[in-house]
Order: sequence, then structure tokens, then C-alpha cells
Amino acid sequence: MPKIKLFLWKAAAGALPVGAQLVRRHISSTWDCARCGAPETSTHMLFHCDFAAQVWNLAPLQLGHIPIGTPILEALNLLKKTIVLPPVGIHTATLFPWICWHIWKARNQLIFQNSHFSVIETVTKAVQDALAWQSAQLALPKVRVATPRPNSTTTLTHDFLCYVDAAWQQQSSLAGSGWVFQATSHSEKEITTFSAGCRRFPSPLAAEAWAIKSAMLHALQLERSDLLVLSDSKSIVDALNSNVSLNEIFGLLVEIRSIRNRFRSISFQFIPRLVNSIADAAAKLSLCISGNIGLDPGTLVFV
Ligand SMILES: [Zn+2]
Repeated sequence: MPKIKLFLWKAAAGALPVGAQLVRRHISSTWDCARCGAPETSTHMLFHCDFAAQVWNLAPLQLGHIPIGTPILEALNLLKKTIVLPPVGIHTATLFPWICWHIWKARNQLIFQNSHFSVIETVTKAVQDALAWQSAQLALPKVRVATPRPNSTTTLTHDFLCYVDAAWQQQSSLAGSGWVFQATSHSEKEITTFSAGCRRFPSPLAAEAWAIKSAMLHALQLERSDLLVLSDSKSIVDALNSNVSLNEIFGLLVEIRSIRNRFRSISFQFIPRLVNSIADAAAKLSLCISGNIGLDPGTLVFV
């Protein structure tokens, strides 16, 4: 469900407003868990607080142990492998996201409404919602959404596609970059590499140019020297294809043109933002992760 996807994404990116985060952002002076008084991190709230542990124990899941200190992304990945035990009747929907969601809701009810949800109530509500979601999905007609593809004539002449994007935050002037390599020889969309970084830049255009430059350098590192770079920044793609200069990013364009000579074959193509959603998400995520864990600008993160 979209709202739960967003919730889990926030949890994975360390962006949930739990006590530890609120203290870090100077919104609150105490990070104590409202139930047990321990420091409230996302993993504590979702897995290790006594209440959460009891909810997971009662849930009809074949669940392994999640040791204290397990990074949240690792914990969520472990949960993805859990099996819903019969006879709950949940087949296509997975239960664990609903359990995480209802532990979070129970926590908020306690803090903001002072109302207590019991362990049984929390598990029951999660199972009910998962079942309701499952039957709603089964009742939906199957719709195939057509995604626009990059120009296929150009695509076929290169060994690799590189979707690249940047996300830029005006307030901090921090930029995140993201790119995805895809081999053109496979009929299915195979994402071969994904990486991202974070740095300060004066404008979104500069951030886009930096993302393209970083992706090209990474392609050379991986010996992918036959590349089609796909970007949703039309002005940069136009500038690179016409050898026109843009004052704002003069230096970066010079660098990109020089790196370009090291490729066996390279082209640049504009694509609409809609088609660039994975690189866009990667860029936003890198910006968010860097902001949250205090990564030094300039650090390249390979995910
Ligand atoms: Zn607690």
C-alpha cells in the first residue's frame, strides 16, 4: 500500500520522527521510548521494545531472530523472507509491513492520544488490514501501464544505457546523484549497477552536470565504454550534443567533454522525468541518506 511503502522507506532512510531523530534535529530534548524509557530509535520502536517484541511473537509469522543493533534495512530484508503461517489466509499480500505500520500507529496513539492498544489488538488489526488489502487487490482488474522508452534506434547502437539524475536541495545547496546501468543485450530490464553520491552545488543544473560526470567516470571504471547516457536535463543534453556552452556549468561541461573522449562510443539523450524514475529515486535517496547520517559532501556511496 503506498502509505506503508512511504512509511517503510522513511524507516529505512532513518527519516521517521522517533525520539532519537527528534533529539538530533533539536526538536525534542528527550529520546526516551514512551513505553520503556530506552533510547527510541526506529529499530527499537519497531523490533526491540518489549511491546514490539511481543507483537512479533504473537504474529502468525515464521520469523527468525533480529539481533539488537541490526541496521534497519537489514532487519526489513530479513522480514521480507518471512512466511505467513496458515491458516491466516494471506497469500499474495505480505504481513510484515502491516505489522510495522500498526506498531507505529500504536506508538503514536500512546504518545499523542494517551490511548493504549494491546499487543493482541495490534496484531489483529494488522492481519485484518493485510487481508482486506489482499482481497481488494484480487478484485482489481489487471492493468498494464505502458512506459515510454528511450529512442530505440539510438539505444540499440550502445552496449549499455545509463539513466542518471540529480536531486538538489535549495536550503542546504546539497545535491544527491543517482544512476543506473542497464545492458541493452538483455530483453528484460536488468539493472546491473546502482550508485549514488552527495555534494554541495550552487544550482540544480550544476548538480545534474555533476551527476552525469560522476556516472561517466563510474562507467569507465567498470569498463563500460560504449554508453548511452539518458538524462532528463534537456539543456545539458542539448549543450553536449551541439557543443554549445552554458556559463553556469562551464567548467563541468569542459570536464564532461574531456571524459567523453575516453569512451569508445558515447551518446547523450534526453528522456522525460517519468522514464527516469529509478535514477530520480536513487538521487533523492542519496540526498536523504547523506543528510541523515551526516555523510561528508563529496563521498560517493555505492549501494
Ligand atoms: Zn521501548
